[in-house]
Amino acid sequence: MPAKLLDGNLLAKKMRTEIAANAIILAAKGTKPGLAVILVGENPASQIYVRNKIKACQDTNIHSVLIQLPQNTSQAELLVQITKLNQDPQIHGILVQLPLPSHIDSHSVIEAIHPKKDVDGFHVANAGALMTGKPLFKPCTPYGCMALIESTDYPIRGARAVIIGASNIVGKPMAMLLLQAGATVTICNSKTRDLSFHSKEADILVVATGKPKMVSAQMVKPGAIVIDVGINRLPDGKLCGDVDFDEVKYVANWITPVPGGVGPMTITMLLQNTLEAAQHLHVRN
Ligand code: NAD
Repeated sequence: MPAKLLDGNLLAKKMRTEIAANAIILAAKGTKPGLAVILVGENPASQIYVRNKIKACQDTNIHSVLIQLPQNTSQAELLVQITKLNQDPQIHGILVQLPLPSHIDSHSVIEAIHPKKDVDGFHVANAGALMTGKPLFKPCTPYGCMALIESTDYPIRGARAVIIGASNIVGKPMAMLLLQAGATVTICNSKTRDLSFHSKEADILVVATGKPKMVSAQMVKPGAIVIDVGINRLPDGKLCGDVDFDEVKYVANWITPVPGGVGPMTITMLLQNTLEAAQHLHVRN
């Protein structure tokens, strides 16, 4: 029997309804959640991502500001914008769309965002706090993957989890979240020997490599939960993940599609983090 579909669109819709309701409640108490998105340059994919984020804010009663800067913006000019947003009481979350043009040091830019407004969860203060189990904000993509895994009701505690991919924005924070939920975690990377040996152990397999369809049915334990983070564009223009969905769906018990799996959850968790940032501020005031 084919795997059950872990439908990110469906879960995202349910969560966004709750976020929208909570945003109205908070606004009625005097704090309307606000997100600022900064886009530098004209990268077409980034323009689409940014548009989707602004639209998602509008749909969930979150105030949003889009700051579009030209490709030749200097790092100093960008840092001035971030300083202004750090001080703006109407803005609770700041997101700088990556990648930035090559003349700008992304690390310095992310470190300039106040950790209490770092709704992407990329600031070292949040990354470090995630290690100790107390992040202000969880990075959006792994946070969304956790929500999908939790929606299956499979007991994470004691499960074997394997993550293929060890990036700072997906693989590593994903490992921390699963570890904190009580899983026994293995992180694989491009140098891992005998990848199948590890992947076949996984009750929960998360794949984030950017390599189209690299995980085949033979690499998956029967009955596993398979979360495919990858977004790859094929020569025919279609999108596919890092997992061979058509094969693996006959081995796994649960599987995310691409598109419509992790993608919609990433934006949803950005909205959730912005709401939480505004709630924290409201409690402090
Ligand atoms: P990255 O390039 O920063 O990291 C890739 C990781 O995969 C590295 O740790 C690398 O060692 C590992 N890897 C590469 N080939 C491998 C192989 N053959 N075997 C084992 N490990 C291998 O990528 P990233 O930023 O983590 O993104 C990964 C994928 O997820 C991309 O397709 C990206 O577009 C997608 N992504 C999707 C979302 C979303 O919202 N759905 C968010 C972020 C990233």
